[in-house]
Amino acid sequence: VNREQDQLLDLHEKAAQLYHHILINTPAGEPARRYLQKRGMSRELIEQFSIGFAPVQRILTPYCNQQGLDYQLMRKSGLFTEDRDGKLQDRFIERVMFPIRNGQGRIIAFSGRLLSTERTDLPKYLNSPETPIFNKRRTLFNLDLAKKAARSDGRLYLFEGFMDVISAFGAGVENGIASMGTSFTEEQVQIINRTTKQLDICYDGDSAGQNAIDRAIGLVNAHQNGQLALRVVQLPAGVDPDEYVQQNGADKFRAYVHDREETTTDFYLRFLRNGRNLDNQQELMTYLDAVLKEVAVLDAPLEQDMYLSKLADEFKLDKAALQGQLRQLQSERR
Ligand code: ATP
Ligand code: MN
Ligand code: MN
Ligand code: MN
Repeated sequence: VNREQDQLLDLHEKAAQLYHHILINTPAGEPARRYLQKRGMSRELIEQFSIGFAPVQRILTPYCNQQGLDYQLMRKSGLFTEDRDGKLQDRFIERVMFPIRNGQGRIIAFSGRLLSTERTDLPKYLNSPETPIFNKRRTLFNLDLAKKAARSDGRLYLFEGFMDVISAFGAGVENGIASMGTSFTEEQVQIINRTTKQLDICYDGDSAGQNAIDRAIGLVNAHQNGQLALRVVQLPAGVDPDEYVQQNGADKFRAYVHDREETTTDFYLRFLRNGRNLDNQQELMTYLDAVLKEVAVLDAPLEQDMYLSKLADEFKLDKAALQGQLRQLQSERR
């Protein structure tokens, strides 16, 4: 870590303290306090994740100027926007501030969430831009705390959003991480691969979430050779992990992620049904073909056999015929 990076880390630490102070102790923080309370976020979680608030009145720019902070350093931090004359202003206004930490627990960026649901013209979450200390493709929210918890649980949970990670943490699932709003990346797969032996993908229970699970499985399998076991936890339709915790409580959430964990093949058995009418012979054939392609990639013959039995049972098919079709797919793969 060079001197500039050190100073940037220091600035982020100070900014986080300032935003947190505004949230907790000032009248300007009142709307955000109400918002977080409404979302069921405990004081303990607010402290644990150093959550803060950037009010309408810009505060970081005057604070930094007062401290005599270097202009170039402020520019590079990503915490300010620059107007045509090069004048800096707070980038984050009227947003609940989530500090983003690196693997060592140092704050390297922020994500700010809009309070108001009416402002559909603004992005719901605004992240810091790339800086000398923040590379989005390599950053996983909560990795520093999650990897400690993963040592005893033997796995990481991949969630879609920051609020999901935080709610899960509050419910006792401390080994949750999330990518940075941008899609899940190869670099993040490598980091996870170095950290743990199993990844459970637990995205939102909507169709966007399911499609994202499909993409995440593809990405993980493209960048590792089976060292990382992959599992899927699919949530009930229409809820995300945060909503599940709010609606059902911590105990039910822990039980759900534990009991509903399934293999990626089981996920595809369900996922590939979407939009297909399996009473139609032709559509059933296309479905079976797609499913058998997933079964064909499995290494264990017994596991393959189990899925063939499942399919034969459900669709009243001859298992030997399914076996024949599978062998044909496997020879095409070679
Ligand atoms: P909340 O519960 O606060 O509404 P969420 O996490 O459920 O947020 P989703 O709409 O499910 O939000 O999106 C999942 C994640 O995608 C978010 O947590 C955030 O990281 C990212 N995201 C969503 N909208 C944006 C956006 N406009 N810009 C950048 N990232 C975004
Ligand atoms: Mn979503
Ligand atoms: Mn969500
Ligand atoms: Mn949500």
